[in-house]
Amino acid sequence: MRLRRVAAVAVLLAAMLIQPVGAQGVPQAPLVAIDPGHGGRDGGASGRLGGKEYVEAVLALATAKRLDAKLRKAGYRTLLTRTTESNVNASGKDLTGDGVVDVADDLQARVDLANRAGATILVSVHFNGSTFRQLRGPEIYYSGARPFSAENKRLADSVHAAVTETFSELDSGARPRGVLRDAMLGGHLFLLGPAGGRIARASTMPGVLVEGLFLTNERDLQVLGRPDTLERLASAYFEGISAYLGPPPAPSEARVISPNGANLRPSPLLNTTPLTVLPPGTVVRPRERVSGDEVAGAEHWWRVDIGSRTGFVFEPLLDVVPSAQAPAATRGSRDIDATSRAGSIIDDDGLPARARARPRLDAPILFRVPAGATVEIIGVQAGELVGGDKRWMQVRHGASVGWVWAPLIAEA
Ligand SMILES: [Zn+2]
Repeated sequence: MRLRRVAAVAVLLAAMLIQPVGAQGVPQAPLVAIDPGHGGRDGGASGRLGGKEYVEAVLALATAKRLDAKLRKAGYRTLLTRTTESNVNASGKDLTGDGVVDVADDLQARVDLANRAGATILVSVHFNGSTFRQLRGPEIYYSGARPFSAENKRLADSVHAAVTETFSELDSGARPRGVLRDAMLGGHLFLLGPAGGRIARASTMPGVLVEGLFLTNERDLQVLGRPDTLERLASAYFEGISAYLGPPPAPSEARVISPNGANLRPSPLLNTTPLTVLPPGTVVRPRERVSGDEVAGAEHWWRVDIGSRTGFVFEPLLDVVPSAQAPAATRGSRDIDATSRAGSIIDDDGLPARARARPRLDAPILFRVPAGATVEIIGVQAGELVGGDKRWMQVRHGASVGWVWAPLIAEA
């Protein structure tokens, strides 16, 4: 019986295979620190139109939360410096060490949060106010006095381009006022500038401060009164940020969450004949998020791999796990390791190794890999105990991904 032979091989290879393997090396998605300006005792700018009051701190938080949701959904990591109408330096510490506790300490708390988290970029979300009430339209600020000023400018330009496009669609007449250096305000913005003056510790990553619209301009307030303006602003910020950062690493896995399973289709269109029906719980490898036929307002589909097959699944039927949160394809299980590396199929009397849908002998065979073939090992996990060994390796061979009992694979 084949398994007995395989067990013998396992014993021979035990020393080689038992070595511990390193931490998983999945690339992390960029981390965006989002700072909703003001909050708590500091409401920021404000304006009133048609009996409605517009408060900067409230609008900034609402916009920041929308931006946060968009970034997360796209697979980026995020950090909000505040999530409620409160001060960030809630404990009232003298963080700048200047002997007084004031708004500078609240700003320092925001910078410290972004720095401690190792954020890739920092985006501070504000709305504007001016005694010159004719001023209107978004402004994008950056600092030209940092070692990474060129990156600051590139990020600011990217956000500005997206905001410009959005406001041309809105047809509001509110043209963005441009990309501006913070020094034109008469000093550096705390969130963006170099250490010195009030800034005890400067931010350590590229950043921008976006001023959405002027709360002191009547026409800007009319634009803000429309139900979709904050969503459009957040979308523009998202587009600008994601264009600057580039796409996050592709998600490492997705699971069919629909209790009825999910159709795997040859294209993201509903009138196609399904290639197969994926049962609930099926794990697929997401390759690309695409637009397709719309159902109940949702229009995104995923091109996925399942075994040797490729097809399209409607996104709401899947739980897509961003790379940032999932060690490669081993989430939710007692994974041993998930470092991608090469391996070759051990010659077991010339028989091909069977790659299965799950690390169990009763799982369907997805494909076979010939002896001597090279595979990419993308994870190791405890599965069904076979011949004294319960380790299975998730391998990629060509476009296919499946589970092979570990003793059948020699690591390169
Ligand atoms: Zn502000």
